[in-house]
Amino acid sequence: MPVLCVILVVIAALAVACLVRAAALKPAEPKGAPIDAGGFEPSDGCVERFRALLRIPTVSRRDESERDDAAFEEFRATVRALYPHVFEAFEEPRHFDGYGFLMRWPGADPSLDPVVMMAHHDVVPVEGQEWRYPPFAAEVHDGEIWARGTLDNKCCFTGCMEAFEYLAASGYVPPRDIWFFSSCGEEVSGPAVDEAVAWLGNKDVHPCMVLDEGGAVATGVPLGVQAPMAMIGISEKGQVNLTVRATSAGGHASAPSDDDATRLLVRATERICANPGKPRLVPAVEEMLRELAARGSFAYRVVFANMWLFRPLVTRIIAAGAETGPMVRTTYALTQLAGSTARNVLPSEATANLNVRVAPFERIDDALARARAQAAVVSDAAGKKGEVRVGPAEGTELHEPAPLSPFDDAQFDYLRRCLAGTYPEAGACPYVQTSGSDSRAFGAICEHVYRLAPFVYTPLSRSLIHGANERIGVEDFKRGVSFYVAFVRGLGELRA
Ligand SMILES: [Zn+2]
Repeated sequence: MPVLCVILVVIAALAVACLVRAAALKPAEPKGAPIDAGGFEPSDGCVERFRALLRIPTVSRRDESERDDAAFEEFRATVRALYPHVFEAFEEPRHFDGYGFLMRWPGADPSLDPVVMMAHHDVVPVEGQEWRYPPFAAEVHDGEIWARGTLDNKCCFTGCMEAFEYLAASGYVPPRDIWFFSSCGEEVSGPAVDEAVAWLGNKDVHPCMVLDEGGAVATGVPLGVQAPMAMIGISEKGQVNLTVRATSAGGHASAPSDDDATRLLVRATERICANPGKPRLVPAVEEMLRELAARGSFAYRVVFANMWLFRPLVTRIIAAGAETGPMVRTTYALTQLAGSTARNVLPSEATANLNVRVAPFERIDDALARARAQAAVVSDAAGKKGEVRVGPAEGTELHEPAPLSPFDDAQFDYLRRCLAGTYPEAGACPYVQTSGSDSRAFGAICEHVYRLAPFVYTPLSRSLIHGANERIGVEDFKRGVSFYVAFVRGLGELRA
């Protein structure tokens, strides 16, 4: 009996400890006062300028010869015409990859490290999609602007320009340099950003902070949290395409075998995708979960305030979620398959493409080695050693995961303060972005790279990015502009 008593006492003590920690779990607050947009009121003029830029079809193409350069020329000229004070305050832009631009607004104190603000102005194509309203007309229906680029990423581009124009026209001089960079080929991993970062590096420019697209002020977030959450990307997953190649004798389809190249390929790719490696919660993801739980039900707070006890369970649950799983592990997506060109011929070679997103705690080589090991299991089992090979796809981009930026620094707190001033109802937390952005390249010259499109994105809007019927609410757009005004005008408060 005494043993049972001891066990019961221990369990009770653990339970009390969990409850106490849960009760103490509170949403994080910024360290300083909220920073708002001052007297700025977003006007209908902001919206009209946004629509003018949306109407220009700056579609980037993998094959650069297919790029409509006239559209990019028009975009450049239109920006100049719409934002005259910006082009007086900033130095003459420098162009990369033709139409990407990098420009500096000289600040009052040249000894302070600059801030970089980014937003690409190319968009993905619309071919093959069915739009309710034309994708490059920027029509307004029921309070929403419908156009390609409304969410990705001309909202950010225009938001920056509007803030610069408003503040430059009022005579504002930033306390430190502001660099603005906009790629013309972000959607096709164009070279502009690497060239711009290399140029800045050569000039010994070390930004104290970079702000690019990525996360958003998201509604409908996990754990049943009602408040919107500003999800600030502090890293992004790596990316590589792998080719899986299976070989066999081939022959006539009337005499198939278990180990035809096509069947080896199917077994190998299935095995690779089904074994994506162990999930792991990096500190930023744990912080995200704690922050969500702090606004969620008490049951969630008990779990997420006590990760020392529940980490294995939580990791399993998060890894199983469709939206959360990719945040905690490397993923392999089977995107292309190729076999015989004839219906009745067994090919001697079958190939597949895996689009791989590498978790921030791994490298591309780890993801490749795992895929090779899984493929080897299949070919060895078939007695076909080495007949399923895995390697980087021809011409693939090789992006390692972006370094993890801190989220306990003055820069992150500055973002929190600007959010508190413009979205007082929203929380803010770090997260690991599962998609890619140009900001990745800035990791070479800056340790504080943050990814946040400061606009409300609903679950519906998140699903419309790159798809048909992309659109943004007029009021949502205006609010994002206010964030950028707050961010620029408050820079004197950035202690970094
Ligand atoms: Zn984008």
